[in-house]
Amino acid sequence: MDEPLVTRMRAFGTTVFAEMTGLAVRTGSINLGQGFPDTDGPPAMLDRAARAVLGGANQYPPGPGMPELRQAVADHNKAHYGLDYDPDGEVLVTVGATEALAATVLALCEPGDEVIVFEPYYDSYAASIALAGAVRRPVPLRPVDGRFAFDPADLRAAVGPRTRAVLVNSPHNPTGTVFTREELTAIAELCRERDLIAITDEVYEHLTYDGVEHIPMATLPGMRERTVMISSAGKTFSVTGWKTGWICAPAALVRAVQTVKQFLTFTAGGPWQLAVAYALREELDWVAGLRDGLAAKRDRLSDGLRAAGFEVYRPAGTYFVQTDIRPLGFTDGLELARRLPELAGVVAIPTQVFYDRPELGRHFVRFAFCKRDEIIDDAVTRLRRLRSNA
Ligand SMILES: *Cc1c(COP(=O)(O)O)cnc(C)c1O
Repeated sequence: MDEPLVTRMRAFGTTVFAEMTGLAVRTGSINLGQGFPDTDGPPAMLDRAARAVLGGANQYPPGPGMPELRQAVADHNKAHYGLDYDPDGEVLVTVGATEALAATVLALCEPGDEVIVFEPYYDSYAASIALAGAVRRPVPLRPVDGRFAFDPADLRAAVGPRTRAVLVNSPHNPTGTVFTREELTAIAELCRERDLIAITDEVYEHLTYDGVEHIPMATLPGMRERTVMISSAGKTFSVTGWKTGWICAPAALVRAVQTVKQFLTFTAGGPWQLAVAYALREELDWVAGLRDGLAAKRDRLSDGLRAAGFEVYRPAGTYFVQTDIRPLGFTDGLELARRLPELAGVVAIPTQVFYDRPELGRHFVRFAFCKRDEIIDDAVTRLRRLRSNA
């Protein structure tokens, strides 16, 4: 049979995550590739989920999501950001942020419309944009003074007559950048001027370090009305397997997204929704502890990587630290990532796979630090072998 996959998805065969995780399993390496925590979320939240299952919350929840979770999301965004969303009509529960992103792009972008993304970008963005028949316009994030940032001139140059939306991920995976108010303002000005929609991926909203503030795009002047704000429980509560996310947006945008979402999944899993509703109300102290623990892990891994010879960019948020491999004598991150299990018994992700223009990220490799301290220490000890192999 000829290749059965539709043309527009052929560039998305197997992901580097599958390749690297397979490599980790085959070689018994420490996997600092994929970003999932190796410890559980708050026990009382897990208990709520178990009780919801045993208590019979096992049939189709309402399409927009369970009222308990929609109300909890609305209350959370009011309390944390001063943002008012009506739980009936302006909040939509989704199967993780991933479905929220896909449904949003599919609902709002015509074939040929352009979507601006900051590269390196989270891998599902490119696939969602391709599914919609839309076109990516990448704006590079480059190291400036120790953090990854964009040049406002590049952003302006990326906007054209077909630009429909800007996809903004802050705190940003994979660079760890948390966009500043100035950076967000530059994006917001452009959105207002050119009548663009901001699609914001805020799944790391609670995981910022050193007192760095997460600023939702929707809080900027004139932006609430043109922003689809996306978040999810996976990162905040260490339950990446629960796939429980949500959208907050003006009613017309939510209706559009729900029109698509209802035929992708109709609704999202019920027991998780009840447990996350509870956690958004009662477990944010637990999340503060998670954040402080992750900040310490960031330092632990960063110091270790630096001692092993990498140049390290200190992330202000997320699970990830970016490194430059050139001080170790390597030039290609993909090549190094494929050899790393044999050289050091560690798996990492070559950052170049997150780019439209891989040459911009050729020499970067991403390590995840959302792992137990002993795992990080073991990985660092192993990585010290690299110096002698370069
Ligand atoms: C993990 C992640 C997601 C996916 O979130 P889910 O709720 O698991 O679908 C989306 N965006 C970014 C940047 C992520 O890191």
